[in-house]
Amino acid sequence: MKTVIGLDKLRATRLSLDGIIGLVLTMGFLHEGHLSLIQRAKEECNHVIVSIFVNPTQFGVNEDLSKYPRDLERDLSLIEPLGVDLVWNPTPEIMYPTGYQTWVEVEAITRPLEGSMRPTHFKGVTTVVAKLFNAVQPHKAYFGQKDAQQAAVIRQMVRDLNFPVEINVCPTVREADGLAMSSRNKYLEGDNRKAATILFRALSAAKSAYESGERDAEALRVKMKEVLESESRAQMQYVSCADYDTLEELDVVKGKTLLSMAVLLGKTRLIDNFVLG
Ligand code: AMP
Repeated sequence: MKTVIGLDKLRATRLSLDGIIGLVLTMGFLHEGHLSLIQRAKEECNHVIVSIFVNPTQFGVNEDLSKYPRDLERDLSLIEPLGVDLVWNPTPEIMYPTGYQTWVEVEAITRPLEGSMRPTHFKGVTTVVAKLFNAVQPHKAYFGQKDAQQAAVIRQMVRDLNFPVEINVCPTVREADGLAMSSRNKYLEGDNRKAATILFRALSAAKSAYESGERDAEALRVKMKEVLESESRAQMQYVSCADYDTLEELDVVKGKTLLSMAVLLGKTRLIDNFVLG
């Protein structure tokens, strides 16, 4: 496995690889969720490239950029056994050199949910993903269902800008108690870690109601809110029952639907979702 930092080295190594190239984009501090994307890419591609880059432009001014967990050595030791060909670990200066002034923005689909709480987030995400796609030129890219809106926004960007890359969305990997794996779970300690299962429990309650025949979207949102309110440590930011593709809030559930939520536990912000239908 080769690890490179500079763009020239990335390009040269990429050009030496034949066949179907799969890309997994990460911000590092890897866990089983990331590894599942790499394994899927390995199954479907001739070569796998992993990027590790904590992208500053997707963090808001008061967010956790400087505190975001990092451990490159550990990340490389987790990836090595999976048969990854190339790891690209660029610096912020390589991605955003002095004088940088080009941005990619997707419109309506970035505004609700995460966009309503983090207004500059998706502009940073779409810009860095477009840059990574251009630099690596993968045939396939792998994203996690955990970040459902991100996946929907990337699908939209790829359609709108004719990127020649196939987007694959892989299931959310969870801890035994249902908590969706996330690099930010590291911040959860003691009682907050225990309370963090409230997201999974709220989503599960709404899913059972749906499976019992409930199709009123507001009733499903209320169900999720009620469960979240039963955990005094949890501060709800939003709950949503929306169309899977457009992310518009629904009145009546029909077709593929996204149940999603964001919750603060102390200073740690958690998101999670289930897909219905
Ligand atoms: P991140 O490093 O948090 O930017 O995530 C990199 C990729 O891993 C994104 O496509 C995420 O959606 C995906 N990912 C993060 N957590 C999980 C998880 N628990 N299960 C599956 N994929 C995940």
